[in-house]
Amino acid sequence: MSVNNPTPDPITGTIALSRDVASVLLRNIISDCKGQRVLFDLDSTLLNNRPRSVAIMREFAESTNQPLLSQAAPKHFPTWSARDSMVLMGIPEVEADGLLDEYLEFWAPRFFSSEYCVHDVDIVGAVKFVNAVDESEGEVIYLTGRDETMRAGTTSSLLSLGFPPPGTNNTSLVMKPNANDSDDTYKRDKLESLSASGNIAAAFDNEPAHINSYRSVFPNTLCVHLDTDHSMREVRLLDGIVSIKDFDH
Ligand SMILES: [Mg+2]
Repeated sequence: MSVNNPTPDPITGTIALSRDVASVLLRNIISDCKGQRVLFDLDSTLLNNRPRSVAIMREFAESTNQPLLSQAAPKHFPTWSARDSMVLMGIPEVEADGLLDEYLEFWAPRFFSSEYCVHDVDIVGAVKFVNAVDESEGEVIYLTGRDETMRAGTTSSLLSLGFPPPGTNNTSLVMKPNANDSDDTYKRDKLESLSASGNIAAAFDNEPAHINSYRSVFPNTLCVHLDTDHSMREVRLLDGIVSIKDFDH
């Protein structure tokens, strides 16, 4: 999507703010967050998971002798559809359909593991922004749908990328207790409990359903949607939510 010629997301209709307006918004949050909490989702909000998907697809290519899939690169993962990724790599649609179940069985235990978190990289500007919140004495809360079995890999990944480490000063990592719990229900419940314990300056999430929950639970909080990718459900953003491409400020 070009910043100068914004095109709505074909599924959610989202249009991101221009670079200049987004930059002002982010700098205002840094100025105003002292003593308040700021909530950050991780996947596709602070972290770009495409390198993780690339690594898994290449391993799958090796184990199933699929040379076309061994060429996997981040550009082949514009959405969360593995079928679309395979087709982009040159696999005919009918063959992609035939491979999909086997791939998803291969993918899930790797993708949802501590070990593979090492492949993630930061969304542009995210490390700088979260550190600026921390230095402004905002309380950083990483609120993720990852479950507790991924805590070690998640913490290690945040540390190595340069994010404020969870468990120190005013920074915490809130994770889903059980892998099988619904992300939607877990986040909604967690937000309800957070709403009872003080002010929240801003909240960031890439998933339209989740940022809509933030907006409903925290009507006075600045709710910011990350226009990166999403689970492809047709969910429109509620009024009052703004959308940004990344954290460049
Ligand atoms: Mg996310």
